Amino acid sequence: QARLLMPLMGLMRVALDVQTSEALFARIFEYLDFVPAIREAPDAISVDAAPGPIGRIEFRDVTFRYPDAAADARPTLRGVTFTADPGQHVAFVGPSGAGKTTILYLTPRMYEASGGAVLFAGEDVRQLTQESIIDAVGIVSQETYLFHATIRENLRYAKPGGSDAELEAACRAANIHHVIESFEEGYDTVVGERGYRLSGGEKQRIAIARVLLKDPPVLLLDEATSALDTVSERVVQEALDAAARGRTTLSIAHRLSTVIAADVIHVVEAGRIVESGTHSTLLAAGGLYAELAAEQLASSRILEAEQSEPSAD
Ligand code: ATP
Repeated sequence: QARLLMPLMGLMRVALDVQTSEALFARIFEYLDFVPAIREAPDAISVDAAPGPIGRIEFRDVTFRYPDAAADARPTLRGVTFTADPGQHVAFVGPSGAGKTTILYLTPRMYEASGGAVLFAGEDVRQLTQESIIDAVGIVSQETYLFHATIRENLRYAKPGGSDAELEAACRAANIHHVIESFEEGYDTVVGERGYRLSGGEKQRIAIARVLLKDPPVLLLDEATSALDTVSERVVQEALDAAARGRTTLSIAHRLSTVIAADVIHVVEAGRIVESGTHSTLLAAGGLYAELAAEQLASSRILEAEQSEPSAD
């Protein structure tokens, strides 16, 4: 997940030290989430002109090998096929290294499929302009990058020209407004590297507020793996629900609570989708999902027990 953003950070930091105008923020935002290593087709069309409904995502027998992978290594994705209809929540679960993040990368064509096709709004992503794909997608990942700038500026580049009232409404829906208000300088608090250090959960909610401001039809959600206490988990979950509402959401779920409500859950193992269904049908099937769920339940019980123990000091 950090891999997604790291190569661009150094570049952005330099640029931002020189100039922090709104226009620059807006421009950088286009490149923040994506590494555009891909050449666009000369006759590429905009997502708006694609034949299918915006928000439909399809993988057709997608195979993928990372460019720098060893030649004899097994492909990272092998024959991945699924469809997400507009507004649906499709979740991916599975062991670490199975290929879940890679599926999210391929959706907005951050990497090119080695075989098969990825379709966005009914059109092969290779025939779409990169800019229109970027405009149609919002990301909430484990690594939320904040510029060394005020919270207001960090939010506003998701919606250049957005009013203070709009920023605040998004932050309320993302359950972060009260936190920002509690700072002495409120929305003018400088965050980022040398500024105020927001917690992981707070940064994630800023990312959610950005998605609400950008209002894209598609949300790619890579949920945080780190254990949250029950209260934080509920606060973040509510914010995620707000962000997913009315959007096609592809999520990598680490917490059972997110998965339960998904329209479809795909279980990924070693680059393949090995099971698909809803929480209840997959539990009943007694396969890998049921195993993972049992493991999670056990570890969340342990976490709860630890949290309810009186602290030693
Ligand atoms: P996790 O739950 O741990 O995040 P994941 O299911 O999201 O795992 P991916 O991040 O998609 O898994 O990784 C799938 C496989 O691809 C892993 O074996 C990983 O090491 C490999 N991989 C990921 N990124 C690259 C890369 N840039 N170059 C080569 N191999 C990579």
